[in-house]
Amino acid sequence: MQTTPRGRAPSRCGLPRSRRWGRAVVVSTAALLTTGGLAWALGAGRQLFPDDRVGWGFAVLTLLVAAELALADGRSRTGGSSAGSALAFSVLLVHGWLPAVVVVLVIAGLVAAVRPRYRGEALWHGAVGVHGVGAAALLLALFGTTPSVEQPWQPTDWGVGALPQLFLAGCAYIAVSRALPCLAEEGRSGVGRVLTRFTWSRQLIVALALLGTAPLTAVVAEAAPGLLPLFAVPLIAVDTTFRMAMARAEDQLLDPLTGLPNRGWLLSRTTEALDEAAAEQRKAALILIDLDSFRTVNDTLGHLTGDRLLLLIADRVRARLPAGAQLTRLGGDEFAVLLPHTGSATAAQRTARELIGALDAPLELDGLSLLVEASAGVAVYPEHAPEAEGLLRRADVAMYLAKRDRTGVEVYEASRDGNTPDRLALLGDLRRALDDGEVELHYQPKVRFDGAVAGLEALVRWQHPERGRVAPDEFIAIAEASGLMPRLTEYVLETALHQVAAWRAAGLTVPVAVNVSPRDVLSPGFAGDVAARLARHRVPPDALQLEITEHVMLEDPRHAADTLAALAGHGVRMSLDDFGTGYSSLVHLRRLPVSELKIDRSFVARLVVDAEDAEIVRCTIDLAHSLKLLVVAEGVEDDETWERLRDLGCDAVQGWLVSAAMPAPETTAWLRARRTSSPEARAAGGRPPAPCAPPGPTAGTLPVRRASVR
Ligand code: C2E
Ligand code: CA
Ligand code: CA
Repeated sequence: MQTTPRGRAPSRCGLPRSRRWGRAVVVSTAALLTTGGLAWALGAGRQLFPDDRVGWGFAVLTLLVAAELALADGRSRTGGSSAGSALAFSVLLVHGWLPAVVVVLVIAGLVAAVRPRYRGEALWHGAVGVHGVGAAALLLALFGTTPSVEQPWQPTDWGVGALPQLFLAGCAYIAVSRALPCLAEEGRSGVGRVLTRFTWSRQLIVALALLGTAPLTAVVAEAAPGLLPLFAVPLIAVDTTFRMAMARAEDQLLDPLTGLPNRGWLLSRTTEALDEAAAEQRKAALILIDLDSFRTVNDTLGHLTGDRLLLLIADRVRARLPAGAQLTRLGGDEFAVLLPHTGSATAAQRTARELIGALDAPLELDGLSLLVEASAGVAVYPEHAPEAEGLLRRADVAMYLAKRDRTGVEVYEASRDGNTPDRLALLGDLRRALDDGEVELHYQPKVRFDGAVAGLEALVRWQHPERGRVAPDEFIAIAEASGLMPRLTEYVLETALHQVAAWRAAGLTVPVAVNVSPRDVLSPGFAGDVAARLARHRVPPDALQLEITEHVMLEDPRHAADTLAALAGHGVRMSLDDFGTGYSSLVHLRRLPVSELKIDRSFVARLVVDAEDAEIVRCTIDLAHSLKLLVVAEGVEDDETWERLRDLGCDAVQGWLVSAAMPAPETTAWLRARRTSSPEARAAGGRPPAPCAPPGPTAGTLPVRRASVR
């Protein structure tokens, strides 16, 4: 898995990745210049440091600055020491480049010796310092100023004319020591990258302030060299304050638990990555990872264990990151991964799969073996959003779908997002249509093989004034994503119960099934609300059936199970819809208080042409019967399918072969024509009890009376 086209990625400065050599070049040229310079100086008998009181004063000052730097908290040493630079610069002004380079080397050497872990960093800052000294010395030389230990440039000689060269030399020093890290930015990733941008201006001010004190140091060196070590106080104070501010800025970008960058960092870095991607016409991607039912871990094992588990998870995922990718924690059990370069949405999806695959093996914690699953959403720049926040939001939408459908990973698709402007407009229209009663219910019969009507399924129909008929799948998805679903279900329940009451009053006692979405089942008080509605319409609970899907068990299984048990307690029967499409699990089948199972029409449609689908249908029917459930096949469109289903022992069918969904008046006429409406009539016909009765050994092989339902 490799989503990063190597060798093409830019650095923070917008330079191509080939500049990864920058760091090596800077260090090696500094080493060359230093050894060459020192060899020449020693050969020419030049003195490296003044061995008078001034020299000793500078030596003590150098040691103090180096000691403070070596003992400082390593994390906040990013950017090197401005105090060291100021000191080297003041030495340069008075005694020239040779002792200034010695100061730089002593500081770098001491830090490297005391803190071996930061040897590389110390070496790097030493190299940058050498280049800074070189640049400033060259600038002074342009003005004809070449101080040395033997012939110092004393402040008493400076005069007003010296100000421009002092100023320009300081600027040259700063420019070089700030530009070089930029060239070699390559080595830096994570928080440091964004942090550098956050603190760049601050660093510049500090550098200017400290370099401004350099001439003063020179003045004191000439007038009272014994006081030189006192300069350690302001130099170190400014440096420390800066580093503390830097550490604070760093904390604001870090998640305290995992130490990973946080949301603020992610947005900032993503913005940067998108700019780079735009400049190079490349793709970038965000992957949002959310752990499934992590709340259960917290609830059962406690938050401390939950926290430790998060650390283990972060480590696992981090170990699988492709080159250039960055893991961040957004909070709770949510992580995000930025892929600054990705070949395509498919490549990003592969990466996402690989990342959540990191959690396939159980995590060991306190002797427990814990299996944590995760869902991931992928959004790709530029196709899904032009900016960081939008990209994150879309990755979130995709993640939600992955979680809901139990697919593991989903790539964002505008057509499945309830938030595009067009969908928002449709949502507003739907809300109005519900308020104005413009949404209708049609009813589709479920019939048994003897022709008896087992029930009706209520299906919503919406005729949009401008768009024409909108497919239920389309507007239901919008309602589900927006929170309008409870309102829609309330409308459907109310309309259906009103109709059932009317049919009952007219002597037609046919049960009606209403589809409910997982959101409904999870909304508080749903069971009580259904019971109250039944009572208000004086409809017995067994005249209503609720069609649920297995998705109901995904989000909050405990709450869903409670609601379903309460509904069953009220006497409402439930049917498991679309069986075979979702996350079909025998555990759900056994636990859900359903009395009926509906085989999804995708299997039914191919029943006669596909042996595998036929086998699935056969097994499903046998399984359902062994659990004492009734089986209804959806989407029966032809005689052959009808016959196969009958032979397989299916209990009832629903489909265009029997009838499409009809408006209420037509349904009334259809029911009357069937003359199968009242229990009395059924009893008179000698037919078995209605198939939707509570679980019992209901026969699945009923005498065929197909002609009566055609
Ligand atoms: P569903 O619950 O699986 O409903 C059956 C769908 O299959 C209906 O589509 C129905 O018109 C269609 N159908 C029936 N017989 C045949 C057939 O022989 N062949 C084919 N190809 N299709 C057939 P519809 O009405 O478009 O509804 C689509 C989905 O929208 C439903 O699938 C259901 O999930 C949802 N839905 C419909 N009404 C409601 C409602 O009131 N509330 C909720 N929550 N969802 C609803
Ligand atoms: Ca249904
Ligand atoms: Ca269905």
